[in-house]
Amino acid sequence: MKKLVLTIAVFMVVAACKVNPFTGKKVLNFYPNSQIFPMAFAQYDQFLTENKVIEDSPEARMITKVGQRISSAAERWLAANGYPGYLNDYKWEYNLVNDETVNAWCMPGGKIVFYTGILPITQTETGVAVVMGHEVAHALADHGAQRMSAGTLQQLGAVAGNIAIQDEQKRNMFNQAYGLGSTVGLMLPFSRSHETEADRIGLQIMAIAGYDPAEAAELWKRMKANSGGEAPPEFLSTHPSNDTRIANLTEWAPLAKQEAMKFGVTTFK
Ligand SMILES: [Zn+2]
Repeated sequence: MKKLVLTIAVFMVVAACKVNPFTGKKVLNFYPNSQIFPMAFAQYDQFLTENKVIEDSPEARMITKVGQRISSAAERWLAANGYPGYLNDYKWEYNLVNDETVNAWCMPGGKIVFYTGILPITQTETGVAVVMGHEVAHALADHGAQRMSAGTLQQLGAVAGNIAIQDEQKRNMFNQAYGLGSTVGLMLPFSRSHETEADRIGLQIMAIAGYDPAEAAELWKRMKANSGGEAPPEFLSTHPSNDTRIANLTEWAPLAKQEAMKFGVTTFK
């Protein structure tokens, strides 16, 4: 039985490798959008009913504006690189929630939340674009679905003989992968490689959206200065260290500008 489980697990891995359009690398992900997105949309709606959404304020309008520019930049980049239609199933939504936590996240399918607590650190529209680009990048690169896939394999290995993943289990794994459930809305830190990947992709799409990627390093300096206090899970990550991250972002910013110039973007705000 154990052997059968292993065979099925290997088959799932082989069958489930999907190319990350941003890196060209094959990644493990056997959850198609059609399975992940409905769960994400339901969780998101529930989160909005349980938290205080700011409907109409200059800040809320700014979050929406930046989100629209970032998502349309991502769409242009994907279409130009041979992935037209990659975002067809996405249902973008941008909400500002009244909460002092220093956090922001994007759930699969483009469901975004910014907390008011992060605004003193983003400071400007460009600062919001840094965070927006980073969070959207996690979603575009299917980082959550990959984490969920890895969790499924673990579970398959652990529960020999129980091959069929039931809906209930799937929901539990989704909640684990996204850090939802009891602590709704707080994303778990992603792995170091996923964080670095999101930094790089985020920089590229913010530049294509016309925002100055040089601001990313500045934002992370402010985040570092702030992290003496209580930092939220997504931003807490000790890896990559703030210093590594700032160094990377400084190095990559000119490259992101070059990429944006291919899209006719020559000025950055
Ligand atoms: Zn992240």
